[in-house]
Amino acid sequence: MTKYIFVTGGVTSSLGKGIIAASLAKLLQARGFTTTIQKFDPYINVDPGTLNPYEHGECYVTEDGAETDLDLGHYERYLNTYTSQANNVTTGRIYQYVINNERAGGYLGKTVQVIPHITDEIKRRMKLLGETKQYDIVITELGGTVGDIESLPYIEAVRQLKWELAGNCLIVHLTLIPYLKAAKELKTKPTQHSVKLMSEQGLIPDVLVCRTEQPLYKDLKRKIALFCNVTQDAVIEAMDADSIYMVPLEMMREKLDLICLQKLGLQKGTDPDLSKWKEFLNKLRYPKSTVTIGLIGKYVELQDAYKSILEALIHAGAMNECKVEVKNIHSEYLTKENAESKLESLDAILVAPGFGSRGIEGKIDAIRYARESGMPFLGICLGMQMACVEFARNVLGLPRAHSTEMDPDTNQGVICMMEEQKSITQMGGTMRLGSYACELQPGSLAAEIYGNTLINERHRHRYEFNNEYRERFEQEGFVPVGKNPKSDLVEIVEMKGHPFYVGVQFHPEYKSTVENPHPLFVAFVKAAKDAQEQRSAAVEKANSLVI
Ligand code: GLN
Repeated sequence: MTKYIFVTGGVTSSLGKGIIAASLAKLLQARGFTTTIQKFDPYINVDPGTLNPYEHGECYVTEDGAETDLDLGHYERYLNTYTSQANNVTTGRIYQYVINNERAGGYLGKTVQVIPHITDEIKRRMKLLGETKQYDIVITELGGTVGDIESLPYIEAVRQLKWELAGNCLIVHLTLIPYLKAAKELKTKPTQHSVKLMSEQGLIPDVLVCRTEQPLYKDLKRKIALFCNVTQDAVIEAMDADSIYMVPLEMMREKLDLICLQKLGLQKGTDPDLSKWKEFLNKLRYPKSTVTIGLIGKYVELQDAYKSILEALIHAGAMNECKVEVKNIHSEYLTKENAESKLESLDAILVAPGFGSRGIEGKIDAIRYARESGMPFLGICLGMQMACVEFARNVLGLPRAHSTEMDPDTNQGVICMMEEQKSITQMGGTMRLGSYACELQPGSLAAEIYGNTLINERHRHRYEFNNEYRERFEQEGFVPVGKNPKSDLVEIVEMKGHPFYVGVQFHPEYKSTVENPHPLFVAFVKAAKDAQEQRSAAVEKANSLVI
């Protein structure tokens, strides 16, 4: 029988429910339990694909092409297993299903209501992954905070499920224990209130994970247990950590996994083998050098907008035993004139994915600088498309070259819309999404990096390289080295004679995990390290000549 763990949050948002859920899953997985995590988001968008990254951070794409919440990225990075469309459900999707069913006469004349129809549909989806019999444990994270009006149907669904699943279900509630500096005290009242609010809605947590800046002393744990109706060993301290990747070990120290297993009536399983994880952490904590990579984008002030890229750089840094310092560079303020002064001190540049024309010329100027100076360059999706535009304008002599996304009237559309996309007017889920095969040219840098000539990577875009220009690019040393074997669409470009110039139409960042850092990111960070070493060697040589 599959066991279900629900992770709820109280007091405030941004407590890190996703990281706690992923850490718990990691520990359970390490004990030999097959585990998956799903997220239920209480907003009305059918999926986060149409959400502005300013609102909700990055949109994460799964193998099967679902546009999902960025927490799914954490799940994959921690568990090293794939998630799918079924792992992320929103209120919009639930209502869409129920309304479609109502229109199709599926409710046989009944009045369709939040309870039972919406809650039944929520419950059905909460149990879906468990019913595949692939998992011993399904962890469900509820987005939002207890007490939000929009969270009510989810809390009600979990309340009902707790009865239906009897002992096979557990509620882990994440809460905050603030430290009041003036009083020099940790305060439990917000936690008490949040648990009280939950219990008014019929749900009593079994385990409390308490986010705190200060250690929770024993008496405080006793007090929380007493007032919140949980056993004392189920009050878990979650101290702020230097890195999100420390959290599984912190949770192991606090025995979160053991207490959950015990309350679910499961054996301890095997002793968790986290040696690979610890090896990664060691490299992360004790780097031997530092490289600085410029991230050129338009959401640079927002950490979450490029979440998977930043995490992939962390994984790749650890592999290279170096710290990757990311310098955020706003493409809107980059120009041909200031590109050199803004970029010359970097060891490499990464031009980010994106939509729309804001800051686009700055991206093109940055790519030109990287191409001409020999600075390692990685362009992802829009970053790759702009590399093509830059080359077309400045080398092929096509002054109006652009993507037809930015300039629909150009007659030099080196990046243009795929035929099958042209008739689509709806926004959500209408891009080239999810995993596609890509064939690599033997002998190319990409083939060397991947150690393979057939790869699969995830996509999220509407526009493509225009194959009519292929030969002209190739003749000048700008080589499409990766293509889709079925459609012939260009997936990777490289530059002959450049130390590291790679543009990819797909998103490698989605597939980088702690245990399997993405080879392209690993090679990119290595190229940055090499570039730095060469620069310092050149400076040293110049200095010795002066002496
Ligand atoms: N806007 C571009 C397209 O739709 C690139 C998308 C992206 O960078 N993810 O093709």
